[in-house]
Amino acid sequence: MTKPPVPPVLPVLHTTLGPRARDELGMVLPHEHVVVDLRTPDVPGQGVAAAADVVALMAPQVRAAMELGVTALVECSTGGVGRRVDLDHAVSEATGLPIVVATGIYREPWLPGWALRATEAELRDWMLSELEDQVKGTGVRAAWIKLSAGDDGITDVEAGIFRAAVAAARRTGATIGSHTIRGRVVRDQLDLLRRAGGDPRRFVWIHAQAEPDRAWHRELAAEGVWLSYDDLGAGDDAEAVTLILRALEDGFAGQLLLSHDAGWYDPAQPGGGTPRPYTHLSSTILPMLRAAGIDEATLTVLTHGNPFVAFAR
Ligand SMILES: [Zn+2]
Repeated sequence: MTKPPVPPVLPVLHTTLGPRARDELGMVLPHEHVVVDLRTPDVPGQGVAAAADVVALMAPQVRAAMELGVTALVECSTGGVGRRVDLDHAVSEATGLPIVVATGIYREPWLPGWALRATEAELRDWMLSELEDQVKGTGVRAAWIKLSAGDDGITDVEAGIFRAAVAAARRTGATIGSHTIRGRVVRDQLDLLRRAGGDPRRFVWIHAQAEPDRAWHRELAAEGVWLSYDDLGAGDDAEAVTLILRALEDGFAGQLLLSHDAGWYDPAQPGGGTPRPYTHLSSTILPMLRAAGIDEATLTVLTHGNPFVAFAR
């Protein structure tokens, strides 16, 4: 007797509104924020905000992006910088936009006390619980792991968190993304990743545009990492477009992520501050890329396909 064929398991993007398949989504913004608080966790009130206030400030920003075709956004706030998955969920409920959240922890000095005291196994198990079940009390499953490293290199405690993340990533297929400004620090992270059995194709170099030496972009992309150019609307448009065009010329269309690093509700500011919009890619950068001769198929890879593939599992 022959067994029936096993249907292939397609990757899904885990979001605040449940899993989404590739064909359920269009444009996805791979690096944004809904809530961030860059004060350290020892500051009273860090990360404290009321859902009604966050929704009032951020829902109009989210709706403006949706009107331009955005179908999901990746929230890059992580442990230590005021990650509030419950508030992301509230904004999703108010707007209908699925938001992709991360497990993980930022870098020193933003590490919460419990993370400093935890063993690598405990850190791994905490990440696994969020990737396989839910971020406690939210009903939302984390899709990926967000970390960070300082410009001068990885500290011992950050290396422990990194190894815990690789162990959790290997078990779940989750991608690790790291806020890392310098290419040579990414080099150190990739060495750690490989030694722990991780896959460079499941690593996102966040803020790659901040490394001025493009040789690093080429070298690390050649090893499979995703290049996240994520300051659109915050810097010079012509420079941003030139950087994107260079990466396309180098053959990295399938590894490029474009986003704004925008938003957000900041509990440190009165009323949450003034958010930066999530619309500059659609309104300004894509027209500039079209004018430079980039075809629609490539733009669809950059804005639809890549973010899904990078963060789905
Ligand atoms: Zn960010």
